[in-house]
Amino acid sequence: MKMYIGGEWVDRDEKVSVLNPYDGSVIDTVPSASLNDLETALATAVRGAEAMKQLSGYQRFEILRKAADIMRSRIQDLGTTVSTEEGKILSEGLAEADRAIQTIELSGEEAKRLYGETVPLDGASNWAGQYGFTMRVPVGVVAAIAPFNFPLNLVAHKVGPALAAGNAVIIKPATDTPLSALKLTEVLIEAGAPPEAVQCITGSGSRLGDPLVADPRVRKVTFTGSRDVGERICKTAGLKKVTMELGSNAPLIVMPDANMDKVIAGTVSSGFSNAGQVCISAQRVMASKDIYGDFVDALTETVKGLTTGNQLDSSVKMGPMVRAEDAVRVNDWIKEAVGSGARATTGGEYEGALHEPTVVADVTPDMRISRDEIFGPAVAVSSFDDIEDAIEAANDSIYGLSASIFTQDVDNAMKFAKYVESGNIMINSGPQWRADLMPYGGLKDSGMGKEGPKYAVEEMTELKMVIFH
Ligand code: NAP
Repeated sequence: MKMYIGGEWVDRDEKVSVLNPYDGSVIDTVPSASLNDLETALATAVRGAEAMKQLSGYQRFEILRKAADIMRSRIQDLGTTVSTEEGKILSEGLAEADRAIQTIELSGEEAKRLYGETVPLDGASNWAGQYGFTMRVPVGVVAAIAPFNFPLNLVAHKVGPALAAGNAVIIKPATDTPLSALKLTEVLIEAGAPPEAVQCITGSGSRLGDPLVADPRVRKVTFTGSRDVGERICKTAGLKKVTMELGSNAPLIVMPDANMDKVIAGTVSSGFSNAGQVCISAQRVMASKDIYGDFVDALTETVKGLTTGNQLDSSVKMGPMVRAEDAVRVNDWIKEAVGSGARATTGGEYEGALHEPTVVADVTPDMRISRDEIFGPAVAVSSFDDIEDAIEAANDSIYGLSASIFTQDVDNAMKFAKYVESGNIMINSGPQWRADLMPYGGLKDSGMGKEGPKYAVEEMTELKMVIFH
């Protein structure tokens, strides 16, 4: 595909191949943008932001509503594109496309809700003759940098709110998975977005990233990706608004009174969907010592039943990782844990980008498979003594994006909700759960700011205070 900058679809001689991670075949190519292309995008976005300012909230709503309608009519193509370039099984690709439609729809609704409030200034001791209110105004130009793992819905979570709020947006999709974002751009332009207000620039983040986020014409950077790239962006961006949706190694706690069928189903779906490449994948699975042995046995049996292979084959339950080198990394971490006394009770091997779904038992907190974000199809299982011990173990991480507990005891559930340092708390579900309308974002090194259209619109607008004297 071509990239969309300067209000037109453009190609370049230098290209990047987009691969199907299952067999390494080339699906398509996209241009590798130059720094001149980036300058075109930035200059265009400034004009795009002016064009957006001319649109009413209702007009922005109409564009996004129409975009959602077009997406619905193309859901099969969008879902297949997601699966083919990213590697998730087709049912997950289609589910992502369905969620992206909802995200765009929800964003459209928010275009009508940029409320301010009246401020009772006579509550200040010295003033009585003033009348004050707040209003929300667009920031102007938003840079939206997206990861590979949800190449459509996570782009929708940035571009939808940016347009709803009245901004222009420059999308920088992940180099492994640019096609879904380019197809979303196509939809938005077709739906009537001003051609200079939406751009999608393709090419290496390590080359385009710094000049994009440092540019003073960009007033807001919304980034989803790894912790280290996020930290670099924060340092480079300087004085502008940033939202950081970063990684995690989410804990899943199993209390002795938990419903074991629900626990196993929740651990498997949270640990292995999208081959474990989800920011809120269950990674540190901790079961009470009273049920530890039975839990490991039951989990191992179920995980053994997960078939792997071509993500487009409907009998396959787990597809490849996005890159073969990630399968090598995941395998190194598993081998390292096993070498230090842990046990792989199922899985543990890989071929190309396909890594077997793996359960690693008897993990200790110092092992890399527990400490760092594995972002792959392996769960690290350990045991704990009581709820206090479980909460302490859950908090023993630099991250805090999602945490879950399975229990029938409401006191323990509430203790967990109150004391675990995490942006999302799940009770009786695995940590990998999200409704697109809810506020979503991490604590600690998992990031700052929230997504979910209602909350993202706040992050992509400035609050002004107006005072009549
Ligand atoms: P990544 O390597 O950090 O890349 C994310 C994006 O940043 C890509 O578009 C990448 O471009 C770009 N980039 C790379 N270097 C850059 C730089 N110096 N300046 C600006 N942008 C730069 O992450 P990933 O491997 O795609 O995604 C996996 C990570 O995302 C995991 O840590 C996961 O937990 C996190 N994640 C978080 C959430 C959340 O909501 N909290 C959701 C999904 C994923 P290139 O592709 O061209 O390198």
